[in-house]
Amino acid sequence: MATDFRLPTDRIVRPDKDRFLAEENPFEAMMSRFDRAAELLDLEPGIYKILRHAEKIITVAIPVMKDNGEVEVYTGHRVLYNTARGPAKGGIRFDMAVNIDEVKALAAWMTWKCAVVNIPFGGSKGGVVCDPLMMSVAELERLTRRYTAGIMSVLGPDSDVPAPDVNTNERVMAWVMDTYSMRVGHTVTAVVTGKPIEMGGSLGRREATGRGCLVVTKEALAHLGMPIKGTTVAVQGFGNVGSIAAMLMQNEGMVITAIGDRTGGYHNKAGIDVLDAMAHVKQHGTLEGYGKGESIGNEELLSLDVDVLVPAALENVITTKNAASIRARVICEGANGPTTAAADAILDEKGIFVIPDILANAGGVTVSYFEWVQDRGGYFWSEATVNERLTDIMQRSFQDVLRIAQQHKVNLRTAAYMLAISRVSTVHKLRGIYA
Ligand code: GLU
Repeated sequence: MATDFRLPTDRIVRPDKDRFLAEENPFEAMMSRFDRAAELLDLEPGIYKILRHAEKIITVAIPVMKDNGEVEVYTGHRVLYNTARGPAKGGIRFDMAVNIDEVKALAAWMTWKCAVVNIPFGGSKGGVVCDPLMMSVAELERLTRRYTAGIMSVLGPDSDVPAPDVNTNERVMAWVMDTYSMRVGHTVTAVVTGKPIEMGGSLGRREATGRGCLVVTKEALAHLGMPIKGTTVAVQGFGNVGSIAAMLMQNEGMVITAIGDRTGGYHNKAGIDVLDAMAHVKQHGTLEGYGKGESIGNEELLSLDVDVLVPAALENVITTKNAASIRARVICEGANGPTTAAADAILDEKGIFVIPDILANAGGVTVSYFEWVQDRGGYFWSEATVNERLTDIMQRSFQDVLRIAQQHKVNLRTAAYMLAISRVSTVHKLRGIYA
């Protein structure tokens, strides 16, 4: 008998509904958007209950021998939120702010993100509480390998496939791949994505998240009847996502009037030379001391009078404290969770067109999918093919989400959640409950 998710006695119970919603708890932020979309979809109570839970949560202690001979023990998490649609997929971040609620939220966001762009993955995320800037390369390698060993039981090209995220990169992915391969006794390239090109990485992967931001921003501008050339942009965060998005937008004739990272920002009405700023970061590690423009703080950057604002750093940047002061017409969320759920309403009221994270930054995982496909097929594509297929998926996904937003008269975020949740729930219904 097929599983019936709509038992007559069942009803949706929202255990957290009346509890104080800590604005900056990312899991609460994710859940409150999820709840709204679930309500609009009239989601079956059984499915609703399933999708409120992470499938698997692993927390490991990671002892690392420091270069000075002392032992330090770090904490690492890996959360597989949902694998109904395919292997879990999601990055690993190294950051002092990592905590289990954040990793759970990020893993859920990966689930919705993969569903929005319709690639055959579920969602996961990993994080290690550490300050990578204070560690040597050798210490980072030992940390990465021991963490990988700790989460070995879930890893695999058919079960859970990590990728880079905040403070991790191609080199870290190479260590994960090598550790996994040594443990299983043969080389498995498809166990991680975002690897160096020489060992099964994909052309275009490094630029993919920034390129995806460009594609959806162009779609938004076209929809709003705004030009591309001369459109002004402020970018908050100048790592892999922010710097590449800024560079690609500049190449299209947009004017990047402000950039910033955790050390502060720069404003130049005539436009910042993004390549020049990237060269500074390559040499010095951050934007500190860049100096070509008026020096501004992060809050000032967010409230600049620009056409497009790209928050491309971390969570909780746009909150109830500053949302009212934002003047951009379009926000393209390059980061995961840059806007708190409480701030959504303020942005809506101001008529700001928000391209939500689970759509805006999905370019990265889309090319991760291409990388996984190429590794498994052992046949590699040209950069032009990768970019063309990425552009196609991002454009189509934007239009899919926009259509739902117009149909239901909701904002793009709610529409994206509705699309994602309906795709994941359809698979749950088809699969039924294993018992
Ligand atoms: N860390 C990226 C994200 O948050 C990429 C994940 C992946 O490629 O698996 O989307």
